[in-house]
Amino acid sequence: MKSRLKSSAPPPPPIALLSPPWPLYTRPSIQLGALKAIIRSRFPRVAVQAHHAYLTIAAAIGYARYHGISERTWLAETVYGALLHPEQQPGMARLFRREAAGNRLLHRTDFAQLVSQVQAATEAWLAAVDWRPFRMVGVSSVLCQLTAGLYFIRRLRELHPDLTIVAGGAAFNHQSAAAALELFPEIDAVVCGEGELPLCHLVQHHIVEGRPITAIPPARGIVRRGGDDAREAARGFYQLENLDHLPLPDFDDYFAALSGLDPSRRFFPTLPVEVSRGCWWQRESTTGESGGCEFCNLNLQWKGYRSKSAGRVVSEIDQMTRRHRLLAVAVMDNVLPKESTAEILRGLAGLNRDLSIFAEIRATTPLAELKLMRTAGMRRVQIGIEALSTRLLRKLRKGTTAIQNLEIMKHCEALGIASLSNLILHFPASDEDDVAETLHAMQFAGPFRPPKPVNFWLGLGSPAWRHAEAHGLDHVGNHPHWARIFPPRIFRRMPFMIQAYQAGAGRQRRLWQPVRDQLRTWTKAYGDLHRGRPDEPILAFRDGGDFMIIREHRPGGDTLTHRIEGSSRRIYLFCSHHRSLQRVLANFSNLPEDKITSFLRMMTAQKLMFSENDHFLSLAVPVRMPD
Ligand code: SF4
Repeated sequence: MKSRLKSSAPPPPPIALLSPPWPLYTRPSIQLGALKAIIRSRFPRVAVQAHHAYLTIAAAIGYARYHGISERTWLAETVYGALLHPEQQPGMARLFRREAAGNRLLHRTDFAQLVSQVQAATEAWLAAVDWRPFRMVGVSSVLCQLTAGLYFIRRLRELHPDLTIVAGGAAFNHQSAAAALELFPEIDAVVCGEGELPLCHLVQHHIVEGRPITAIPPARGIVRRGGDDAREAARGFYQLENLDHLPLPDFDDYFAALSGLDPSRRFFPTLPVEVSRGCWWQRESTTGESGGCEFCNLNLQWKGYRSKSAGRVVSEIDQMTRRHRLLAVAVMDNVLPKESTAEILRGLAGLNRDLSIFAEIRATTPLAELKLMRTAGMRRVQIGIEALSTRLLRKLRKGTTAIQNLEIMKHCEALGIASLSNLILHFPASDEDDVAETLHAMQFAGPFRPPKPVNFWLGLGSPAWRHAEAHGLDHVGNHPHWARIFPPRIFRRMPFMIQAYQAGAGRQRRLWQPVRDQLRTWTKAYGDLHRGRPDEPILAFRDGGDFMIIREHRPGGDTLTHRIEGSSRRIYLFCSHHRSLQRVLANFSNLPEDKITSFLRMMTAQKLMFSENDHFLSLAVPVRMPD
């Protein structure tokens, strides 16, 4: 799509893009960066300003406080919720206090004072921007940004009634767009799904051609009040076919805002990078039913999986880090591409920079790829662990097993890659056997970095939400916390991203309490055992060629050592990757079967190996990782 105005015509009015609190303040918004870049490349005469309002608000209320709030949905949503609906503030204050209870920095926060401070900072920010030249503003709302986005929208409408206001981002989707327009009259249009092509459509017809928003041709992905837009938008996604066609994201406005802060408030940000959109694990089955993890609703805003080519990704990271003089990079993808990740990592290693990269990966990532990650500069990964029970992983449709999870946790420990992961508690279909399996696996996982407990929540549009009946979930609807934030007329009609159900929540809490307790013990022991020796694995072996010595630091200060000789050493090394008993026997066919099985049983009893369904995994980490 190209601008149809001749260059001698006066330039079209500028547009603004806005990201409200509460994204991570240490990163520019990938959404704003990508949208600004495509508008600038396709409409060179249309000026675009990307406003990272969250950075200013973070600096105003203090970074530590902002960060604490941004980490929890209900903390974030109540702050601007109280500005939207002050009559409901007492209920929100109670919710805030409850959610902040475990947070050292926030548990004493005076909610009313915080709300006033955020309001003053927001008003000051709004007043500092000259909105008069702008014809249209696009407000991006993803996780934790719903009430903040709505508050900015309301204030912009009050201050500048002629501004066209478009809402987009994951908080608005095909299911909620029509209701959002009806319930929030300040919004002129909602973009559902990926924003680039719908925004270009709006810029062409509304900004360049100057047509009123109600008179532009309908397009997939854009819903306006009245008309057939909701039906048009519901027909599908209006999205790019090839992500290599995207220009480099434009983060200049974020860096300009950062350099405008008091020097004591400036920092070195992390650069967000998009390698792909969607999730290949969520592919459709032959029957048309979409796949993916049962709890996941991360990919409502696009269809299918697309990734940039390896060469493009490497060149983008190369250019962006050089341009902004930074080395910390966060890959924003839900999952890295299966085919090209190795090539990307080799390319990044070839840049010869001391990059520090974060990415989310699946537990099936092979060791060879993890080694490449380490070489490329991946220091932290979020692994989709989710459970340590294979029964439960099956119910979650994660496509992994507990032994695979332990294996990748071990490899990360060996490579010095910090593995951040979650353990989902209270999944409605989980039972005593799942909990027992989890507790059993946890006894073996002690040497590895513990996951964080996360209570299951029902996501709008997730497979669990769609299969609610099969999971025995009754009365599925908006989470009751939304009723504390929004008045009944909105609560009843707007489908929110966080849903709730009635199905034995109390039973699930009781069922999972022992796991929560054991996780606490594990986390404490892991921290204690690493105190003073952060890089030394808790359970490690040194190889002597025809024998090996396994050293095990134990809680309480003891250190145990074990020596393994000859064929036992070879079996232990063979099981560095999980192996079936059948493969072990086949590989060591010269040894008597009972000798092998009794060795495996003994090592498992001593928690030096983990076994599951006749598969075995050695747990000690090599002090020297072979190439
Ligand atoms: S949780 Fe991750 S792997 Fe699972 S469907 Fe969602 S994005 Fe894909």
